[in-house]
Amino acid sequence: MQTLIDSRMTMPDFIAALFDKLDLAGVAAMTKLPSGEKAAYTLLTDKDDIEDCVPYFPAMPANAARAVSKFTRQAPPSKQVAVFLRPCELRALTELVKIKQAAVDNLLIIGFDCAGVFPFSKIRLSDELKLKEYREAVAKGKNCEGIRPVCSACTRFVPEGADIAISFIGRNLDEPLVLSFPSEKGKEAAKTLGLDSSSKVEASPAVDSLAEERGGAEKKLTEKIEEALSGTDGLISVFDKCISCHACSHVCPICYCKNCYFESQTFEYFPESYFTRMREKGALRLPVDRVLFHLGRLSHMGLSCVACGMCEDACPVNIPVSQIFKTAGAKAQALFGYIPGKNRDEPLPLLTFSERELEEFED
Ligand code: SF4
Ligand code: SF4
Ligand code: SF4
Repeated sequence: MQTLIDSRMTMPDFIAALFDKLDLAGVAAMTKLPSGEKAAYTLLTDKDDIEDCVPYFPAMPANAARAVSKFTRQAPPSKQVAVFLRPCELRALTELVKIKQAAVDNLLIIGFDCAGVFPFSKIRLSDELKLKEYREAVAKGKNCEGIRPVCSACTRFVPEGADIAISFIGRNLDEPLVLSFPSEKGKEAAKTLGLDSSSKVEASPAVDSLAEERGGAEKKLTEKIEEALSGTDGLISVFDKCISCHACSHVCPICYCKNCYFESQTFEYFPESYFTRMREKGALRLPVDRVLFHLGRLSHMGLSCVACGMCEDACPVNIPVSQIFKTAGAKAQALFGYIPGKNRDEPLPLLTFSERELEEFED
């Protein structure tokens, strides 16, 4: 357990101090959009803009790891950037680092306990009542009504791999931040920020109560999905509504391929092959390969699925895509004893070979 300290700074004061005391190129965080209704992940380079910064706003328009990948993939930024990330975004970033799609050099990663987010279409900055209920749920360490199912069942809601971690479950969001500094980079930043390590704070019991509630919800979600997916018919029926728009893969932080295999020429058939397949089956649903796409995606990235919920939020026909990928991904991950997003130095299972593994499948 990391030592928690009272920073004596509210969120706006903390962000101002980052600009004032650290030599930063900018801060990346959720920020109000000019419409006043929505917020988006934004790279701010001017301290005057920080009043619009709302890192806790409970929406995820994109998994921020994708944004971080954009400005670090070719080369790390020349000056340090402070990035605010939710735990599942930080896990996605860790996976992207392993496949050389992002770098963390010159990033100061600020993670925070996550009370979950609402489906993006269902939350606006002006939803005062909903945001009040959310704040109350955070203070009590309870799931707020209306957050995404995958968030209600998210047991990894404390950041792993952050330089600075903000502990806010069980606390009032307007009060001074309670911080810990898990990395050497974070400890250095704390010194430069002049944070007093003697002002220690106890961990809130609300973190444990939320973990317990979510553990129960995760078990129920797993049972529900396993039942829905049982057998080939179950799988076909779950994806019956799928319109093959591939939005789920376009928003997935782990699906990084510029040219997706399932959108490549491999899946463009000569006309006659459609008629051959139709004659074999009697009828052919178009477009073809709907379920194959999901199975293929699962086999490509299921080991790294960080259960962030983006795919489900993007699905226009409400298929519980992230609940499916979370459940199926967890099974594959357990097989390899792999926890995605846990440890930047742990190689991906499919990039390593161990002589004695998966022996149960040999016969
Ligand atoms: S899945 Fe939901 S609760 Fe879990 S870290 Fe992501 S946004 Fe937060
Ligand atoms: S498959 Fe879905 S839940 Fe898993 S990492 Fe991709 S977008 Fe997130
Ligand atoms: S977003 Fe939904 S409809 Fe579109 S391909 Fe994915 S599962 Fe199918």
